[in-house]
Amino acid sequence: MDVGALFLKAAAYAAEFRRSVGDRPQRPTDDYSRAFAAFSEELPEHGSPVDEVLDALVAKAEPGLHMPTGPRFFGWVMGGSHPAGVAADFLTSAWGQNTGNHVVAPSAAAVETVAARWLLDLLDLPHESSVGFATGATMANFTCLAAARGAVLRAVDWDADTQGLFGAPQITVVIGDDAHTTIFSALQFLGLGHDRVLRVATDDQGRMLPDAFADVFRSINGPSIAILQAGQINTGACDDFAKLIPIAKAHGAWVHVDGAFGLWAQASQEKCILTTGIGSADSWATDGHKWLQTPYDCGYAIVRDELAHRRAMTISASYLPLAAEGERDPSHYVPELSRRARGFATWSMIKHLGRDGIAALVDRNCDAARVMAEHLRGEPGIDVVNDVVLNQVIVRFGTDRGADEADNMTRSTIARLQRDGMAFAAGALWRQRLVMRMSLTNYLTDARRAEIAARAVIEAYRNVWQENGPA
Ligand SMILES: *Cc1c(COP(=O)(O)O)cnc(C)c1O
Repeated sequence: MDVGALFLKAAAYAAEFRRSVGDRPQRPTDDYSRAFAAFSEELPEHGSPVDEVLDALVAKAEPGLHMPTGPRFFGWVMGGSHPAGVAADFLTSAWGQNTGNHVVAPSAAAVETVAARWLLDLLDLPHESSVGFATGATMANFTCLAAARGAVLRAVDWDADTQGLFGAPQITVVIGDDAHTTIFSALQFLGLGHDRVLRVATDDQGRMLPDAFADVFRSINGPSIAILQAGQINTGACDDFAKLIPIAKAHGAWVHVDGAFGLWAQASQEKCILTTGIGSADSWATDGHKWLQTPYDCGYAIVRDELAHRRAMTISASYLPLAAEGERDPSHYVPELSRRARGFATWSMIKHLGRDGIAALVDRNCDAARVMAEHLRGEPGIDVVNDVVLNQVIVRFGTDRGADEADNMTRSTIARLQRDGMAFAAGALWRQRLVMRMSLTNYLTDARRAEIAARAVIEAYRNVWQENGPA
């Protein structure tokens, strides 16, 4: 098959899927075992024509696809893979650039330089910071914390990048009780241990208590790293950066912020109040594939001290300045050498939406979350558990029947909603209780769509209520 015909066919399949996504049930029809059965066959001894392979791929994959690209998908925290980013990503694949350095991939390296500058501007972070284009926030957190580890040890004359942690001075990691699980993974990968941390108590929204934070810092000395959060995965709450960062800084700590989605509050005039003071941290991790709507995989590791960033990640043995003024080697800022040219999709999304379009996207999702919460609150027996300050809404059902029965009703309502397929949300545990968690993080989700989805949620609950009989 001619390459043009093949690519057009793939594009036609993609367009057909995206045009119909809002009309499909907002869930897969196949679960894992059925998807596995669809793909499962012996290793092919002989090849097949490429267009038949494409047809087979679509037929086998589509029934097992979720709909994060649709307007009423609220599961986990997922972006919508905006068409502008997807189109750039098609080209990224087709161009096949190996984005290790500026000689091997001049355009891919250069576009990162510009997209990095735009990101710092959009997110109102220090302009001297360096930005690594990682797979997602997990690896962005890892990258930032590697820079932190190196810097706090270097300050006590230990070079962790060459000597490792054998015999190194101890680092104390201070973290909130409601940090995201992947932060603990990053600590594990870095040899800092996911349980070897000092945890700080949090309030009912998951924000660290400043007094408890200060108490923890009073109890420690030596190298330390404080990990703060913008956007708690359940509540959307942000730590009080203006209070916490100066406390940590007074003790010489490196301050890192996990802002996988919450950092984007910085892009909105309305919402940046939530992240006041965040700019005085030392590093920030965020995702492109959540609120910026780039396709998966895309995250950003942002480090104020470029040298600390490069020392932690660079593959060459020297930490010399860039090859020539202004030249960027992408591999100096992330763990990988060969990788996808993530800068193209990032550049395209920012170019397409612009500063005002990105602010509008954040505001639109936050408005939609507020509307969702208002509608749900209006129904007896439904409780919105969090303060809806951003794009996250967590909800319990049947709360007039006591906590245990509400767990059951919540479980049943989630199952019913998923079965009906008008909207998708999944469960999560919050304060030891089951909640329906809704994350409104798709460029198509506005107040009107949130209202339609809220009606579907209420209907699912009423059906469960009826099946269970009156309280
Ligand atoms: C999603 C998320 C992560 C992990 O990001 P990935 O892109 O999935 O690697 C980390 N922290 C928070 C707060 C998140 O929401």
